[in-house]
Amino acid sequence: MEAHTLSIGNELVTGQQLDTNARWLSEALSDLGVRVLEHTTVGDDGRRIASTISRAHESAELVVLTGGLGPTPDDLTRQAMAMALDAPLESNEEALAEIRAFFERLGNTLTPSNETQAMIPRGCRPISNLHGTAPGIQHEGSSGAIFALPGVPREMEEMFATSVEPWVSARTAGATTQKALIRTFGISEARIGDLLRDLMGHDRTPLVGTTADRGVIGIRVIAYGPSEAEARSLIQADEQEIRRRLGDAVFGEGEATLESVVGSLLRKQGMTVATAESCTGGLLAKRLTDVPGSSAWFQCGYVTYSNEAKIELLGVPSDLIRSDGAVSEAVARAMASGCGTRSGCDFSISITGIAGPAGGSAPTKPVGLVFIGLADSRGIEVRKALLGDRLDRKEVRDRSCSIALNMLRLRLLGDGGM
Ligand code: AMP
Ligand code: MG
Repeated sequence: MEAHTLSIGNELVTGQQLDTNARWLSEALSDLGVRVLEHTTVGDDGRRIASTISRAHESAELVVLTGGLGPTPDDLTRQAMAMALDAPLESNEEALAEIRAFFERLGNTLTPSNETQAMIPRGCRPISNLHGTAPGIQHEGSSGAIFALPGVPREMEEMFATSVEPWVSARTAGATTQKALIRTFGISEARIGDLLRDLMGHDRTPLVGTTADRGVIGIRVIAYGPSEAEARSLIQADEQEIRRRLGDAVFGEGEATLESVVGSLLRKQGMTVATAESCTGGLLAKRLTDVPGSSAWFQCGYVTYSNEAKIELLGVPSDLIRSDGAVSEAVARAMASGCGTRSGCDFSISITGIAGPAGGSAPTKPVGLVFIGLADSRGIEVRKALLGDRLDRKEVRDRSCSIALNMLRLRLLGDGGM
């Protein structure tokens, strides 16, 4: 089954209120095995609402609207629905009785504008609202159904459960959507697109697509199937194939983060880590200690922002800072080495760079130039990254930490070549 959701309200199109109903409905519908083809958000404009309803009703078996059912003049959903269905608005006895009963329970008197909430297009049915006054509206035609639900999220969710859900379940017994999210780092979205091109077709099941978040490229796999077992097995087959093609760029699934994966590898191998940071100011230590249970493998973090701190706390030779500068491969190496000696940890990570916006001197030391060192008993590896042309200060710092975490992850997997 395919669906179209339509969120209505000026507060949504002006950006004052986030359209959370669309997200909630999409999740609830896909859990029921319904494929949502489109979300539309429109303001309180009767003609536009009506034309969107008509278009949606023609293209999808199920249309779910939210918002605009209230008693005020800016609530135009019922008129728009009447316009789209070419049916007059009529007062519905059942709906009016419910609205009256609601007001009696609260000890309030009914106003004429509340009575307009009992008006629904001829041929439609009202849907009870247990939490508010406005009843919903259900239309059933030969090509499918339209449900108009309240905008208030709690009322919308409750009414969805009593109206849309049983309607869908009666027609798609057992169907479901299963989803997986595979996370990668160190490979570009374009490269992933090249490697997975044949899996990313629009008409294919499962649907495979990418999302990017701070250098982490996620690959979403979504399968619609007649049963959970069938949808799951489709997902698993794709997952295996994606992992095979992308190799160790894949660091985890679902909620996994680079730091959580590094943490579990350290724990399994009984290893410890310490950090020596300059431009990231402790962010790497923060991200490592965000992982619950990190005390088992995280020992200490040095925040050595000044030259003096690098010299005193890590034993970086002052000559080296003078000759190469604090942001240099040699200083990153000396920071990692000093951190290893002083902490006694199995792994030491150092970061020194120019986070910007000031402090760079192109072309030799531009903003975004970062050196990341990783030391263990076998030696020290230093990576140079140039991040400044695309990223701001916060992003340079965050990305530097992610690169460092990924270097350690690959080393722990045994292929972080020296
Ligand atoms: P309405 O039914 O249009 O009068 O909406 C009532 C209230 O529900 C609005 O003032 C919003 O705060 C909230 N609301 C309406 N539509 C949405 C939506 N799509 N997402 C989140 N909140 C909404
Ligand atoms: Mg509204």
